Amino acid sequence: MGLVVMKFGGSSVADADKIKNVARRVMETRDAGNKVVVVVSAPGDTTDDLITWAEKITADPDEREMDMLLSTGEQMSIALLAMAIKDKGYKAISLTGAQVGILTDKVHNMAKIVHIPTKKIRKELRKGNIVVVAGFQGITEDEDITTLGRGGSDLTAVALASVLKADICEIFTDVQGVYTTDPHIVHEARKLDIISYDEMLEMAGLGAQVMQARSIEVAKKFNIDIHVRSTFSHEKGTIITREVSKMEDVVVRGIASDKNQAKISIIDLPDKPGVAASMFTELASKGINVDMIIQSSAADGRNDISFTVSHKDLLKTLEVMDKIKRELGATEVIHDRNVAKISIVGVGMRSHVGIASKMFSALARAGINIEMISTSEIKISCVIKNVHVEKAVKVIHKAFNLDKKKN
Ligand code: ADP
Ligand code: ASP
Ligand code: MG
Repeated sequence: MGLVVMKFGGSSVADADKIKNVARRVMETRDAGNKVVVVVSAPGDTTDDLITWAEKITADPDEREMDMLLSTGEQMSIALLAMAIKDKGYKAISLTGAQVGILTDKVHNMAKIVHIPTKKIRKELRKGNIVVVAGFQGITEDEDITTLGRGGSDLTAVALASVLKADICEIFTDVQGVYTTDPHIVHEARKLDIISYDEMLEMAGLGAQVMQARSIEVAKKFNIDIHVRSTFSHEKGTIITREVSKMEDVVVRGIASDKNQAKISIIDLPDKPGVAASMFTELASKGINVDMIIQSSAADGRNDISFTVSHKDLLKTLEVMDKIKRELGATEVIHDRNVAKISIVGVGMRSHVGIASKMFSALARAGINIEMISTSEIKISCVIKNVHVEKAVKVIHKAFNLDKKKN
């Protein structure tokens, strides 16, 4: 008898019929002789709807109350799913994050899990219950409810699989697995059989919504294999696991894109030590997460610096930059919120050459201008105009034969 953690995302529990379908999937796993812990997200777009509600009340919702509000979405799902399972004569119990005792730090909206006691869940499993746990939420030592960042139910599932020493962590979603790129954007996208933690971590961080990046960090740290698969079919999905040397045979595993990007340039800065340091220290002190940075070569003792931030940080960034412009005597600050980041990812990049040139040539042939470039050992990212994203993903997908290659 094994222990299985099954996580179902928002689209899998979006209405009553879908919740009944999830109940069937869960009961099948139970019938196969397993102990089952189920993690669920809020139904459909509930989390977005709750955010909209809060924004109608105030432009700056209190963080603690926001988490109190957002946690209700998952509470709906656990109750309804437990009802659906019990209705079929199986034993089940729903538990909120607080009832399990998922202890987090105090960073509202983006809390980190500090500790998960397993006593309560194990006790319920021993009683023969299917345990249905609310994803995305925890509680601080002061007993305030916290949430784990968007997509955080993935993190709840992986963390539970880790502390319970589950045999497998299954992430059920609305696609068949992890694809070479978002199958809702590129028709030719192909399902991957396997992907390494590092590749998935990069893909998720660069915009592939299918898994939350922080959940992959935890999976990698504790060596938890994840099976991403469809709620609506029984086909095998994608295994996210540790890297084996054979994985380097595939140069580019996948492509990710992120339209949630804005580019800021500060023009005519003095070219002297400490200028960049003071600028980025000021941005960091305001909690602004800066992504790509380029500095143009200096002329006449002056230079320009451009960088990207996510849309949510744009206004705050422009306020800081206006102050910096005055303090440092720059000429102007310009911004463009219509940019996007497109990235290729693969552990094979470490051992193959000519990857960047192939990516840039594909963009050039499609007439797409590259505004910024950044690279790491296993990824190359370019900033382009966001109107070109779909086309860019398609041409790069084709250039690397991602629709054909075996992986
Ligand atoms: P859930 O509600 O189950 O958590 P998400 O919406 O968070 O599901 O993630 C699934 C979605 O991720 C898919 O519908 C797909 O559009 C998107 N996606 C983006 N990149 C990829 C990729 N490389 N492979 C699979 N899906 C992807
Ligand atoms: N409901 C939360 C969200 O929409 C968490 C999740 O779905 O994983 O982000
Ligand atoms: Mg998700």
